[in-house]
Amino acid sequence: MNTPWDLSDFDGHEQLHFFTDQATGFKAIIAVHSTQLGPAAGGARFWHYPKDELALTDALRLSRGMSYKNAMAGLPLGGGKSVVLADPDRTKSPELLAAFGKAVDSLGGRYITAEDVGMSVTDMIEVARHTKFVAGLPAAQGEVGGDPGPHTALGVFLGIKAAVKRKLGRDNVSGLHIALQGAGSVASGVARHAAAEGARLSIADVDAKRSHELAEEVNGTVVDPADVMTLEADVLSPCALGAILTEDSIAALNVPIVAGAANNQLAKPGDGDRLHARGILYAPDYVINAGGIINVSTEYLGDGGPDLVRSRIDAIPGRLDQIWAESEASGRDPAAVADAMAQKLIGRG
Ligand code: NAD
Repeated sequence: MNTPWDLSDFDGHEQLHFFTDQATGFKAIIAVHSTQLGPAAGGARFWHYPKDELALTDALRLSRGMSYKNAMAGLPLGGGKSVVLADPDRTKSPELLAAFGKAVDSLGGRYITAEDVGMSVTDMIEVARHTKFVAGLPAAQGEVGGDPGPHTALGVFLGIKAAVKRKLGRDNVSGLHIALQGAGSVASGVARHAAAEGARLSIADVDAKRSHELAEEVNGTVVDPADVMTLEADVLSPCALGAILTEDSIAALNVPIVAGAANNQLAKPGDGDRLHARGILYAPDYVINAGGIINVSTEYLGDGGPDLVRSRIDAIPGRLDQIWAESEASGRDPAAVADAMAQKLIGRG
């Protein structure tokens, strides 16, 4: 019999919690990867998985990613993640959200939740009726909180600019061609920042309505989702799915820079090295996409206001530069350099 300890994605996770509530059909996993730097923080994913094992793999991978992300963002937080197993129609009820809130609460603050794929600010309000260990709640004007997406987008845009500076020697993205995979919350924010600075945008989303609306807003061009990974451009910004950088897709890339928000972009550990070998500058995903958790953390801990959020997001390009400089000096790829830095920070170096 395979146990969670046997799984290839098990990485010394401190705790794994399985929750079931027969009355509501609620099933969830909360994975606490590390509490070395503070309570484990990471969003709640509400998703239908064709097999339960896939939910466990997601929880294991995403919670480890949160440990690395929080550590590299300099936050006093560990890493965790929750995965709520949805039915095929992804039916969400107040009862189910209540069961989730109670599950989070039962961990007594060891794990702090917020929204992730399939969960909204409105859902978090419902969850907050049952636990105080939740962030991503609406904020009053001038306060910190709400949708993390725009903050993630700002960090990604600043990270793209840092990559452009390093790889292309340019101070801004004016006239550069950026290919965006996705036209959702983060991609839209990146597109708006980039368009305001004069970038030319190609936008691909499986939801054609979204890509057309965004393209119209930022004067961009809609491209087929099947073509975006091979488009000739200055930057590819993956802002949709994970595991899109594979041996085959990397070989077909037509860009000098890959810098985007999607979590777990590299399909396999060796893929960072493949990008490096092709001379493509890669911005490690959990470093460039930390803007959202920076906002969530500041909201939850109450250790500052919007200025602190902004200054923490402004530190993202510098951290990327440090990774790229070390990569250049050591010959190791940026993803491996970032992993080693993060592991050291959480005491697992
Ligand atoms: P979103 O759901 O708002 O947008 C994702 C978009 O990707 C959707 O419009 C969807 O139709 C599209 N999409 C799905 N499959 C696609 C494909 N094959 N080709 C092209 N488009 C496709 O999500 P989001 O909040 O913008 O997040 C985007 C990515 O960034 C996700 O991977 C998420 O995990 C990651 N991320 C988000 C945040 C945040 O604050 N929202 C923070 C860190 C990381």
